[in-house]
Amino acid sequence: MKQVDIVIHNPTGLHARPAKEFVNIAKQFKSDIRVVHGSKKANAKSMISMLTLGVENGGEISIMVDGEDEDAAVTALETAVNAGLGEGEAEGHAPAPPPKQEPSKEVTPAPPDLPANVLKGIPAAPGIAIGPLYRLQHDEIQIEESFQSVTVEQARLNKAIERARGQIITLHKQMLKSASASEAAIFEVHLEILEDPDLLDAVLDRIKKEQGAARAWQATIDARSKMMAQLNDPLLAGRAADIQDVGYRVLRLLMGADEQQLTLPDHPVILVATDLSPSDTAALDPKKILGICTSAGGPTAHSAIIARALRLPAVVSVGEALLEIDNLTSVILNGSDGILTIEPDAVAIGRAQAQQQAWQTSISAAEKSAGEPAITQDGHRVEVVANIGGLADAEKAATSGAEGVGLLRTEFLFLERTDAPTEHEQFEVYRDIVQAMNGQPVIARTLDIGGDKPLPYIDVPPEANPFLGERGIRLCLNRPELLRQQLRAILRAADFGPLRIMFPMVADLSELRAARAMVNEVRAELNAPEVEVGIMIEVPSAALMADAFAEEVDFFSVGTNDLTQYTLAMDRMHPLLAGKSDGLHPAVLRLIARTVEAAHAAGKWVGVCGELGADPQAVPILVGIGVDELSVSVPAIAPVKAQIRSLTLPEARVEAQRALACASAAEVRNGAK
Ligand code: PEP
Ligand code: MG
Repeated sequence: MKQVDIVIHNPTGLHARPAKEFVNIAKQFKSDIRVVHGSKKANAKSMISMLTLGVENGGEISIMVDGEDEDAAVTALETAVNAGLGEGEAEGHAPAPPPKQEPSKEVTPAPPDLPANVLKGIPAAPGIAIGPLYRLQHDEIQIEESFQSVTVEQARLNKAIERARGQIITLHKQMLKSASASEAAIFEVHLEILEDPDLLDAVLDRIKKEQGAARAWQATIDARSKMMAQLNDPLLAGRAADIQDVGYRVLRLLMGADEQQLTLPDHPVILVATDLSPSDTAALDPKKILGICTSAGGPTAHSAIIARALRLPAVVSVGEALLEIDNLTSVILNGSDGILTIEPDAVAIGRAQAQQQAWQTSISAAEKSAGEPAITQDGHRVEVVANIGGLADAEKAATSGAEGVGLLRTEFLFLERTDAPTEHEQFEVYRDIVQAMNGQPVIARTLDIGGDKPLPYIDVPPEANPFLGERGIRLCLNRPELLRQQLRAILRAADFGPLRIMFPMVADLSELRAARAMVNEVRAELNAPEVEVGIMIEVPSAALMADAFAEEVDFFSVGTNDLTQYTLAMDRMHPLLAGKSDGLHPAVLRLIARTVEAAHAAGKWVGVCGELGADPQAVPILVGIGVDELSVSVPAIAPVKAQIRSLTLPEARVEAQRALACASAAEVRNGAK
C-alpha cells in the first residue's frame, strides 16, 4: 500500500470541479484508492463520497492506494493535486478562498410600491392562472419489508436500479426532444448517482447487516444527501436534491410502485415548489395544473422550459416568502409580468378573469392562423421556424405552422448509445425529417457535444472547464471522421429536400474554413447538390467578427443560450445565476445587433434559435434589431407568429433602440430608459 499526505490549495477546496477531476483520475486506475480527511474517509472513485469529505482550501488529505498500479496512481494524483486539479497552479500560492456568502434569497426584490399581498418573480411562461396554490408533496412511501437473505435483497436492489436506469434513460430521451441537450444532461447526473460505487457499497453493507433492500437504500440516500446539504455549498445542495430524486425513484420501485406520481388534490391547482425536480416535471399531469410558481430557479430552469412546452403560465424566482403561503390559498399568477397576487379581492379576480379571457382568445386566434405567415402590420415578414430534436418533433412542427426547421439538434442521434450511429442510420433519420417538412427548409446542426456531455465512444480527457473545452465544432474537427460521416449522411439526405448545414460553437474563422472545406470535399465525392452553409453565433468572438464570417457563410443563427452564457461569463446551468443570466442583457443584444448589421451588409440573413426567440418581451426587440428568422420550440410557433403580426416595424425599431441603450437586463425588461 502507498500513502501520500498532501494539502489542497484550490480556492474552493475539493469541491465540484476539482473533486470531479480527482475522481476521474482515480477511476483510471485499478487499485483501491481511499482519501482520508480528518475523521472522514472516502472512496476516491465516488464523486458523492469525495464531496462529502468537505475538504476546504488549505485542508490536508491522505491518499491511500492499494493495488497493482499503486505507484502510478499515487504519482498521477499527487501531480494533479499539485497542478491545481484543472484550476491552474495551486501549490503554495493559491488565492485566499472567497468569503462565504449566503445565497441571496430574493433574486428579484419586490419594488417598494407593490401592495402587501403581491410577490414579484421572473416571468417564465406567459398566461394567467387563477386558483388555489398547492405546495408540491410526494407520496409518502411506507417501507414494509422483512429481510429475506443477502442474495434476495441484493437481487431486489439490482432489479430496482436496473428499472430506474431504464426510466431515467427514457426521461433523458424525452427531455432531448422537448428541451435542449443541456437540460437533458441532468438525467446524465442521475445515471452517475445510480452507478456511484461508494453509494452502492454502503447499501450493500447494510444489507449484509440484515437490513431489507428498501430500508438499506433509503438510509444510505438520506445519510448521503444530508451530508452534502450540510456542507453549506449551494452547488452541493443542488446535488443533494438530485440524490434525493434518484433515491425516491429507486425506493418506489423497490416497494412495488411504478411510475412516479405526485400527490395532487382532485381539483386543478397552481403548483408551488422551491424548484421542480426533473422527475417531478416529467411526471406532471398538465390537466391538473393551472400554473407553476417556484421560489428559486430562473427563466431557463428546467421547470420554466417544461411550463412553456405545456403552455402553462409560470413565474420563477419569487423568493422564500412563496413557501410560507398556506396551502390552498387563492392566488392569481400572471406569467406575463411575474406577479403573484395572494388572496385577491373580487375586483382583482374580475380583472384577471378578463385578462385570462383575452389571453385565451388570443391563443385560439393565434392557433387558428398558425399556418399564415408572420407579417407585421406594415408588411415586414419574419420567418418563424422550429427547433426540433427528432422526427416526432418534425411531424408536430409541420402541422403547427412552422415554416421550416431552424435548428435540428442532431445530438439526439448520438446519445444513449455505445457506438456512433452509422452513416446510413443518420441518413435515414435526416431524410425522414426533411420529408416530414414537406419541402420546407431544414437546418441540420452538426454534432454539438462537449466535455460535459461525454459519449462513451468518444474519448475526451477530463477537462477543468468543459464549457470552454472541446465542444461543438472543435471536437468534431479534432475527430474528422466523425464529422465527415455526419456530413455524408446530411448531404445524401439533401437529395430529398432542402437541407442546410450549420456548425455550432464556431469561435474562429479557421474552424469555419476547415469545416466548409470538408463539406466541399464530401459534396464532390457524392456528387451531392449545393447546400447552404451557416454557423451558430454563440461565442462572442464570432459575433464581434461577424463581418469577416459573413463573407464566408450563407447565414447566421444566434444561439442566445450559449451567447448569453459566454458574454456574461455565467454558467447556463448554475442554479444561483439562473435569474441573472438573461439574454435580454444589453451586452447580448448589442452583439446580436452587430451580427445582423454585418450579415445584412453582406446580403446574408440572420436567425435566432436560442430560448430568447420565444420570449414575448424579446420578440419586438429582435424584430426591431432586424433579425430575419425566429426559430422556437413547436408550442411557441403560433404565439410568436401572432405577436409579430401585432407589431409595426418602426415601433419595433424604437423598442430595439431603447433596449440597446439600457444599462441592464432589468432595465430592458422593466421598460426603463
Ligand atoms: C443556444 O446555445 O442558444 C442553442 C440554441 O444551442 P443549445 O441550446 O443546443 O446549446
Ligand atoms: Mg448552444
